[in-house]
Order: sequence, then C-alpha cells, then structure tokens
Amino acid sequence: MTRPDVRSMSAEELCALMESMGEKKFRASQIFSWVHARRARSFGEMTDLSAALRARLAETCDLTVLSCEDRLVSKLDGTEKYLFALPDGNVIESVLMLYRYGASVCLSSQAGCRMGCSFCASTMNGLARNLTAGEMLEQIYRAGEISGKKIGHAVVMGSGEPLDNYDNLVRFLRLLSAPEGAGLSLRNVTVSTCGLVPEILRLAQEKFQITLALSLHAPNDDLRKKLMPVANKYPLADVLAACDAYFEATGRRVTYEYSLIRGVNDGPAEIRQLASLLRGKNCHVNLIPVNPVEEKTQAPTDPARAAQIKQELEKCGISATIRREMGRDIQGACGQLRRSWIQAEKREGGGGQ
Ligand code: SAH
Repeated sequence: MTRPDVRSMSAEELCALMESMGEKKFRASQIFSWVHARRARSFGEMTDLSAALRARLAETCDLTVLSCEDRLVSKLDGTEKYLFALPDGNVIESVLMLYRYGASVCLSSQAGCRMGCSFCASTMNGLARNLTAGEMLEQIYRAGEISGKKIGHAVVMGSGEPLDNYDNLVRFLRLLSAPEGAGLSLRNVTVSTCGLVPEILRLAQEKFQITLALSLHAPNDDLRKKLMPVANKYPLADVLAACDAYFEATGRRVTYEYSLIRGVNDGPAEIRQLASLLRGKNCHVNLIPVNPVEEKTQAPTDPARAAQIKQELEKCGISATIRREMGRDIQGACGQLRRSWIQAEKREGGGGQ
C-alpha cells in the first residue's frame, strides 16, 4: 500500500487520519497549518504535537518535499527558474516571474506530457507521470522560500496538461486556496489547457474563480491538427463551445493563447479567421511569439508583425496582449531545462527518465 502524503491531504482527510490514530481532531488543523502555512519540511518540526505522534506520522506517512537541483536567476528581470527533483527522482521545472503586481509561479502539472504539440519541448520525452497535489503545491512553497518573495499568483502553464491530471489539479486548487493554508485567491490562478473538452465542461461545474487559458494556436481545424494532435480528438467548434460554457458557468473571461509561429499561423488569412472566431466573445487573446526549441525549426513572428496582429484583433473589439518575454538569458522554451537534464542523465547512464 502506498503511504499517504500529508502534503496532498484535505483538512477532512487529516481529521479522519487523526481519528484513526486515536488522536483528537484538532491535531488535524495543527498539522494542516504546519504543512501549508508554515511550510514544514518534516514531521519533526511540528513541535506542538507530541513526540509520539510525530514519530508515528514519520513512520506511517510521507510529507512531500522537493529538492532544488538547479536554480537560474535572470540578470535582466529577476526571473528565476528551478529544476526540482521529486521524491522518486523524476525532475520538473518551475519558473518565478516578477510583475508589478507581485511574484507569480509558473508550475508543472505533470512530469513530461503526452499531448505531443509540435512546437513544445515539454512533450518530447513523453509523459513520465502525473504530479500529486502536494508536488504542485511544493513548487510554489519552495519557489517562495528560495527566492524570499511572497507568491500571490500562480499559473499552471509549466510542463504537462493539467486537465489530463484532473483530480490532482482540483485537489491542488482546493488546498492552495484554503484560508488556513496558503490562502491564495483563485482569482489569481490561471490554468492553461490544450483543450480537453469533457474536462473543461467538468471544471466549469466546479465553479472555481480561476482563469481558464485555452491554447488555440490555430484558427481552423486543419492547421490546428498539424500543430496539436489533440485537435484530432476535439474539433475547434466543440472546444470553443466548451470555453463559452466555462464563461457562462463561472463568469470568468477565458484567455486564448496564440503562439505566433512565423509563416505558419501569422498570415493575414489566419488572423482574419482568428478574429472572426473570437469576435463578440468576452475574452482575451495572449499572443506568444513562439520560443525556439533546439531540435525544431520554428521561428517567432517578428515584433513588428506581432504588433500589427494585436492591432488587427483590437480593431475587431478583441482585447489582446503580446506576452513579454521574461528571463531571456536563463532559458529557452519551457521544458528545455528538464530536457537537457534528462539528456545528460542518459549520456551518463543515470536513472533519469
Ligand atoms: N498543456 C497546457 C499547458 C502548457 S504550457 C496547454 O497546452 O495549454 C503553456 C502554453 O505555452 C501553452 O499555450 C503552450 O501551447 C505554449 N507553448 C508550449 N511551447 C511553446 C513554445 N515553444 N513557444 C511558445 N509557446 C509555447
């Protein structure tokens, strides 16, 4: 039987655990606060529990802790990138970005990814495994601790497809926003998906106040299928209908992400088609000049053309921004730090995946 991970447990589950150990229920709230507010890294630190209970917890339960294997800090804008090792030796990456409104962590939801988007480095070695809720939370906790910054925002836009790890994602969101824990407002959290229709509809019913970001990247099914294999499963019309349903259910404006790939999806015809798809929707478009990935030939749209695209969308009443590139000196595209680590492990015959 796998040992329960206290970092991933809800307050109710901790209550049940305490009862099963013959302890008083209020011990559960003490533990919850140690784990999520005080960010304890071991049961031994929980000094207001009896020594016997601490020992029993250490014997029977886990408390997920990530170890930081590498930290890169941008000299240009203070962006920090971390390579974290999971308890089983898999590695993931997370990024801390500094904005006017505070610090934000971009976190991974899976080790690797199985979605296969053609421009993305995270998917090149396939999916290793889903992350637990505790492993998602720890990325935020550790980034805060290492950087010394207070983290007020989180974006689930690192490696992995969050809706392909639905139950752990929902558990993570509940724990992250618990007032007795980290207490992050879900209005400050964005979850990005390649467009898994049934899970978008299910998420809409959870009525979280998160922002949903939909990776669109193409204005028609033919082109989208070339870039994103998931488009073979869910046609654009269904994806957009699911996003509309999300807005209806939550009142939260959906963000559409559109990676600008030179000569692929940035021509006048594609942009006209994009504008007609989104016209009249209460939405926002995030234009992302594509990040070159070493093994791929893709190039970003040049800045002048990107600015023109933004204007064209705005002329149609569609709000749009061009994503500012951060940490240019410390990273290639998302997933590349992890990928280079995996390649090095392979060369050295290490056990990495
Ligand atoms: N699986 C989720 C989260 C992935 S990463 C999703 O598909 O939305 C967040 C965003 O970065 C997605 O829109 C993804 O398509 C995009 N992305 C991935 N690789 C990129 C690259 N090399 N350049 C620009 N954007 C990229």
